[in-house]
Amino acid sequence: MIQLTPKQKQELRLVLQSNKTKLEQQLLDAESATGVVILDQSSVGRVSRVDAMQQQSMAVSTRAKAETSLRKVLKALKRMEAEDFGYCSQCDEPIQFNRLKVQPQASHCLKCQDQLDQA
Ligand SMILES: [Zn+2]
Repeated sequence: MIQLTPKQKQELRLVLQSNKTKLEQQLLDAESATGVVILDQSSVGRVSRVDAMQQQSMAVSTRAKAETSLRKVLKALKRMEAEDFGYCSQCDEPIQFNRLKVQPQASHCLKCQDQLDQA
């Protein structure tokens, strides 16, 4: 069993906080990108409208992804406050620091995540 040291936890908290800021910014950007097409619809030609629609659907999927990630990041920060951070929510084993460094919002250990991915 390897538990996180306070220093490791602090490091992950900083990563989570900067991810949160980045995602919130992404959401704001996507917000303005999805709004543009509606305004332009009557004034632009067909080709650029297709372009705009493609951009819009990209922005929509970017936003959906950012929303999902942001939710995970917020949950992880909450778990951190509850001293619950770093443990698999399925089997309760500590999640490896190396995994958390790559994905600090991970809520499952590798073993359980694999099982989830296969399901
Ligand atoms: Zn697990």
